[in-house]
Amino acid sequence: MARRKKIKNNSTVQVIIGIIAFIFIMIIGNNHDLDLLESLKQATEVDSLEKVENVDNTDKQTTTSVNGNLIIDYIDVGQGDSILIRQGEATMLIDGGTSECKDDLLDFLEAEKVDKFEYIIGTHPHEDHIGSLDDVVNSYDFDTILFPKVTSTTKTFENLVLAVQNKEKKFTTPVVGTEYSLGEAKFEILAPNSSKYTSTNDYSIVIKLTYGKNTFLFTGDAESLSESEMLDKNIDVSADVLKLGHHGSTTSTSMNFLEAVSPKYAVISVGKDNSYKHPTKTTMNKLEDMEVPVYRTDEQGTIECISDGLNITFNVEPGTYAYMNE
Ligand SMILES: [Zn+2]
Repeated sequence: MARRKKIKNNSTVQVIIGIIAFIFIMIIGNNHDLDLLESLKQATEVDSLEKVENVDNTDKQTTTSVNGNLIIDYIDVGQGDSILIRQGEATMLIDGGTSECKDDLLDFLEAEKVDKFEYIIGTHPHEDHIGSLDDVVNSYDFDTILFPKVTSTTKTFENLVLAVQNKEKKFTTPVVGTEYSLGEAKFEILAPNSSKYTSTNDYSIVIKLTYGKNTFLFTGDAESLSESEMLDKNIDVSADVLKLGHHGSTTSTSMNFLEAVSPKYAVISVGKDNSYKHPTKTTMNKLEDMEVPVYRTDEQGTIECISDGLNITFNVEPGTYAYMNE
């Protein structure tokens, strides 16, 4: 009886060992997926420590006396967005165009002698905004990368997450009202104001950059829903220069929003003969009716805008109000 019990015990042990071995093999086999999931989780965590360090608590009053220039390059990356902003030694990049523009973008940054970024902003996870951002992250040191709290299953997004991980950095989640310094300029997060949207475009990080008395609004692809949220919260969206949302599509630049921004100049980052048929008649007519000069990368190529804190100048003449679609 005792012997039979021992044999039974032995086979129980073997079964348990078998189960443990099976689980072990399953874990090893799926190691890559687990690592990636963990990376995604870590990379999208709010980095509250970093965020607190970067908050400029000195004073919220507008400083009007500044030295030197603020230089903004709305880079011609075809159908997409990429904007280089420099003040003194401080440098920031908003978006990195499509993966197709990689060589052009990296060549441009090299020609402009960029050596590191204080800030990189990925406005939202669409390919025309983060396509080459992983290459930028791989090629340059940076202090802070801001990215909205939204994930995507695309290879493009995965590449960006892995590039950020490889630099041992984490995404900083934008918090509306937070202010950051960029040399003598400063910028404030204006959107997103909700945590869940139907359209990925509405997750776009919107910032307002202030240099002396000049102000610049960068809206990513934020659509009319995000625009109305900013207006509902009485956020001051007024700005001298507006980078139009979503490449001049009808889904952005609602009349209320445009009137509240009341820009002196508008910039559209859009590809020549793009398949989305941006910009649209609706948007271009609004700008024309309000007599806002418009600079567009499909007509002017890369647009450089310079502010001395009082005056704003562009390196090119304004473009036309031509549109591709209703
Ligand atoms: Zn876009």
